[in-house]
Parts: sequence; C-alpha cells; structure tokens
Amino acid sequence: MKAYQDMTKEELTALHKDLLKDYEVIKAKDLNLNMARGKPDLNQIDLSLGLLDVLDSHYDFGQKIDYCNYGILDGIDEAKEFFASMLSTSKDHIIVYGNSSLTVMFDQVSRGYTHGYMGHTPWCRLNKVKFLCPVPGYDRHFAITEHFGIEMINIPLKEDGPDMDMIEQYVNNDETVKGIWCVPQYANPTGITYSDEVVRRFAHLKPASQDFRIFWDNAYIVHHLYDNHQEHVAEILKACEEAGNPNMVFEFCSTSKVSLAGAGVAAMATSVANKKDVLQHMAIQSIGHDKLNQLRHVRYFQNVESLTVHMQKHAAILRPKFEMVLDILEKELGGLGIGTWTKPLGGYFISFDAMEGCAQKIVRKCKEAGTILTNAGATYPYGQDPHDSNIRIAPSFPSLEELQQAAQLFTLCVKLVSVEKLLSL
Ligand code: PLP
Repeated sequence: MKAYQDMTKEELTALHKDLLKDYEVIKAKDLNLNMARGKPDLNQIDLSLGLLDVLDSHYDFGQKIDYCNYGILDGIDEAKEFFASMLSTSKDHIIVYGNSSLTVMFDQVSRGYTHGYMGHTPWCRLNKVKFLCPVPGYDRHFAITEHFGIEMINIPLKEDGPDMDMIEQYVNNDETVKGIWCVPQYANPTGITYSDEVVRRFAHLKPASQDFRIFWDNAYIVHHLYDNHQEHVAEILKACEEAGNPNMVFEFCSTSKVSLAGAGVAAMATSVANKKDVLQHMAIQSIGHDKLNQLRHVRYFQNVESLTVHMQKHAAILRPKFEMVLDILEKELGGLGIGTWTKPLGGYFISFDAMEGCAQKIVRKCKEAGTILTNAGATYPYGQDPHDSNIRIAPSFPSLEELQQAAQLFTLCVKLVSVEKLLSL
C-alpha cells in the first residue's frame, strides 16, 4: 500500500474520483448510525437487570430499616466497604453518593468555587483560577471547568500519562493553578493508563497553592477488555499520603458502566480531613442519597471477586466491537500515512488522529452520510483542537453489523478528506 504523501498529483486525482464514487454509494444507503457517546449496549444492560430483583417488599431489613429513611449521609457501610476494596483503600476514606460521578465532580469544583476547601479562599474571590487539562481528554470534564469560568490549560498526554515536566512546572510555581483533570486508567478517549512513575510524580508535587487538588477520575478502573493484558494504576491516595500530600486528591468512580448507566452508584475516595470538609457542605445539600440502590448493588455484586466475573461478561461483549473497528482501521488505513490510532486494552474509546486540519471535515462527511461521531474538537478544552486532528470513536453502543458499516464509512471519509488536503497543498 502506497502512502498518500508519496503519490503523484495524477494518482491522487484518480484516487479522489474513485473515493467520491464509493462515498456517493454509501450516502445513498441512508444510514442512521452513531459512534458518538460511550453508552453500554443493551446486552450489557441486560447483565445487570437482575439488580432489580434483589430487593423487594419481602426483604428482611432488620436493623437496616434505616436504609429506607433519611440519613446516613456518607453512604451505607456495605457500599463504603465495596468501593473501598474496588479503590484499594479503607472505608473511612469513602463517601458513597447517588447515581453519577460526574455530578460529584461538578459539586467538588462548585465547592472550591463558592466556599473553598478547608477554609481556603473560595475561587470566586480570586482574579484568576486555572485547571490543567491533559489532552485529548473527556469533554464533560472540560465543560464543568468552563462553566465556572476557570481557565483551562492543555497538557499533552503521552503513552504513559500526561507530560509531568509541564505539570510540575505549573503546579509547583503558579498558585492560580487549583486543579487537574485526570482519567488515570484506560483514559477517555486515548485508552492509555498512567505508569507508576507518573503516579509517583503526581504524589510528589509541591503545589504553590495549598488548595490545589488532583481530580482523579477512575471511571474505568475495572473495565479491562482482556483478562491476560490488564493494566492497573498505582493507588494515588496512599502514594500522596506517603509523599506528605494527604489532602491533594479527590478520586472518583461509579458503577455506571458496571451496572445500569444512569441508575448506578457513584463514590469518592479522599483523605479523612477532606471527607470531613465535604460532608459539612453535603449536610446542607442533602439528607442522604438513595441507600436502597446502594444496598441493591452490594447485594447483587457481593464483592470485588464476583464483580470481576461480571466485568468479564462486559468485556466479552465489548471486545469484538473494539477488535472489529481496529481491524478495519488497520486494513483500510494501515501504511497510508493519513492517520494514527490507539489500541486500548480497556475502557470505552479509541482515539484517532487524522492529518492536521482534517478532523472537522471527516466528522462532517460522516454525518452527511448518516453516521454521527463525537464533534471534532470535543476532546479539547473549549472544543478547540489546535491541530484539528483528534476524533473520538465510541464502539460500545452500535451492533457489530452497524459498527462495521460505520467504521467502513469512517475510513472512507478519512481517505477522502486526506486526499483533498493533499491535493490542495
Ligand atoms: N468519567 C469519565 C472519564 C467518563 O468517560 C464518563 C462517562 O462516559 C463519566 C465519568 C460519567 O460517569 P457517571 O455516569 O458516573 O456520571
């Protein structure tokens, strides 16, 4: 296969004509496909519907009748134990919430903004507040900080985590830097996992600002695609504690993509001192979350061992989808020099980098032919990819048949837009 850059203008023109013909054929099929958001498919949802049967009016609550009433702000004991073992910490570090970790992250940023952490000046009273944003990253993280008018700074993501030299430079010298968004395992969208060395360097940061916090979103902590190639990230809370920075981390997770997306349970792990501070605010906000859903989850999943078996069933559904997309990318684009992509071992996404200046056009062309992708630029703060090259592919929701059509169309659009770029040079 000849790389496009090595083709003559005549070869490219002829190729463009053929590709356009293929594109018109697909367009005429009137497809209605979507590879935009990382939703579990219906077979995955099916794996957890049994949750709804483990608690009914015949359940003997005994002493636990309190679970049906107001109170127990930081979550029921069993759920705290469950999340503590998932996050390799102890239950005194855990708060268990309602259905969404994103809501918890929003609340944490909001608390820093309106009231400040542990008596520190609320960010709203400061002239400037900055967050570091490893890119490409999760659009909804960036939307939260943008919502509060916080300035976001792009930090390049490497294969083993974000550029730590740059992070140290900012965090250790600039007191307006108050936080960083991190997805340490099977990151959204690249699928990369932070190395032990990266975690160690995070833990040893010497923040110029005492209320600097790492927002450690461990959304994909148990979402391995392969049993024999699992990646695990070092435990950040413990690392920070040992490095003398016990209060530097808020770690988030949820069962959204374990049980029922939208009806799962979320949790945060943090230092005992941070937990106390957060609970003081929460006491104004709530009289307690849905403890029956917490109990339902613990009764259904029992422990981390049976959770592992459950996640293997998820992987069996997701793996063929990832492999199909990766095969098509390789078969159609391998060696052409017009794109690179990640090959994740877990999580929900594949990250594709097109030639500079091509991402928006590719996404538009796919849409015109009936396939929705995540907006180009969404993986960067303010929706602005400086190279206009990154596209997030979410293979989880479509059926295998739909996915095949969508991935074929995607590669065709990548070729078409790349040839057009080269011809216009
Ligand atoms: N964090 C990351 C990195 C995600 O990719 C997602 C969903 O795609 C979420 C959080 C949302 O989690 P939740 O459903 O718990 O709000």
